[in-house]
Amino acid sequence: MQKIPFSTSQHALFLDFDGTLADIAPHPGAVHVHASLVSTLHSIYHLLGGALAIVSGRRIAEIDSFLTPLVLPAAGEHGTQWRNAQGELLELDDQVIAPMLAPIVHAAEQLVQQHGELLLERKTAGFALHYRMAPALYTLCWNTLMPMVQRTPALALMRGKYVMEVVPSAIDKGTAIASFLQTAPFAGRIPVFIGDDVTDESGFAKAQELGGHGVKVGAGPSVALHRCPNPAALRAWLEQAVHTPQPRLSGLLAHAA
Ligand SMILES: [Mg+2]
Repeated sequence: MQKIPFSTSQHALFLDFDGTLADIAPHPGAVHVHASLVSTLHSIYHLLGGALAIVSGRRIAEIDSFLTPLVLPAAGEHGTQWRNAQGELLELDDQVIAPMLAPIVHAAEQLVQQHGELLLERKTAGFALHYRMAPALYTLCWNTLMPMVQRTPALALMRGKYVMEVVPSAIDKGTAIASFLQTAPFAGRIPVFIGDDVTDESGFAKAQELGGHGVKVGAGPSVALHRCPNPAALRAWLEQAVHTPQPRLSGLLAHAA
């Protein structure tokens, strides 16, 4: 067990949403936000002097709707959208990406037409293809999209939990966290990033590279040096952090090594 100090003035906290703060639902729109989560995050936001951000694959508008009335600094679509502590929103110009993306979107639309269990979720500079309702279609989807993405260096194909996503290759959760750390109130703080999925690995790596901590929620291989068993345990730790002046991640988070 390794103790991770979590003081109010030294650390910046970056949190993934699905599978981390909220349990994964059968459909991305069906996620249940636990009753106390919004007030807990609000308290932690103030404890950390505002150095709290959501770093998600979802669009920022969706994160806002789940956490209303809370409006936190956030990176959406794995960093393609980025909203700083002042509320300024930066988005990748999708006119650059759109022409490269169009034929791949078309291929995904054809897959969805042929297989009604698939769900296509369009985003600003990419898309997510969900196959949770039909896991056996994974290979077909991957083999259809991967060759097209490989021919397009500006794009990457990422695997998540029953979802694959086409995203801009130059941007990921790691670059999003690094961007936050260049701005107030995140600058100069030790980053702690907590996530659950393959798409969070770049965030764990960046946080640890910058002298901070990566915490993986749930099982599976990860570069993160710390573990948390599930979203409920993480929510309990966050609530505890609100009521403890110098809370530590120990006791909840086992050292993974
Ligand atoms: Mg997640």
